[in-house]
Amino acid sequence: MEIGELNRRIKECKKCKLSETRINALCGEGNLNAKIMLIAQAPGEKEDRVGKMFVGPSGKVLDELLNKAGIKRHEIYMTNLIKCVLPKYRKPRQDEIEACSYYLDEEIKLINSKILVPLGYYATHYIFQKYGIQSLSKAEFSSIYGKLFLAKDKKILPLPHPATCLYNPDFKQDLIKSYRKLHVLLEDCKWYPVCPMRRFYEEGKLDKKWIELYCKGDWESCIRYQMEEKGQFHPDWMLPDGTLDERLQKEAKNEGYYYL
Ligand code: SF4
Repeated sequence: MEIGELNRRIKECKKCKLSETRINALCGEGNLNAKIMLIAQAPGEKEDRVGKMFVGPSGKVLDELLNKAGIKRHEIYMTNLIKCVLPKYRKPRQDEIEACSYYLDEEIKLINSKILVPLGYYATHYIFQKYGIQSLSKAEFSSIYGKLFLAKDKKILPLPHPATCLYNPDFKQDLIKSYRKLHVLLEDCKWYPVCPMRRFYEEGKLDKKWIELYCKGDWESCIRYQMEEKGQFHPDWMLPDGTLDERLQKEAKNEGYYYL
């Protein structure tokens, strides 16, 4: 199916009762070749009226967060888990998610962004289930947002919804920091060409997940990167999460290219 046909089906969809209370069913928007796909929960009242994504107050916050992360709206693709407004901003029900998520699944296939960014608990819960990452309770969301997860050919970065800081302005700095990771994910770590992790990986001694999670992912969270920036010593066999790998130590010792 092409995106035009998918959007036509979304606009006409009557698969669940939300079609009776909506004004507009919202299709995804943005760059069809985007590396990053933002997945929000559902349209707000203003989005429902205007028929466009993120035009309400949370849209202003989103623009500011993207701006601070050095990313423009036209570079990304944005969509919703549920395409129609939820009356009185209530939470989505399981039957609504089951009826509507078909469209999101199709968008993920069509746009094929390598980085999926679910915003808030419900979108993250759905994406985690879809990719078999982990079951996630609402209480656990606050401990996992801003962390990078790997699934098949995707990188998944759950983030809080921009509207969060409309209710809790103290949260803004935290949100700015979390959204900055979008920019980090678009660049490789500057140390990668000379990092021992690259050498171990290319020699088949290190699992690719380390490279995808850190060197070509969230390198700012890498302990090696942080120590490198401060000019602190770290052995060759220290993994990006700061643990020491004895197997790599033996490998390095056998080949005589490490120092204590
Ligand atoms: S291991 Fe860390 S420091 Fe080395 S290239 Fe990867 S992210 Fe950068």
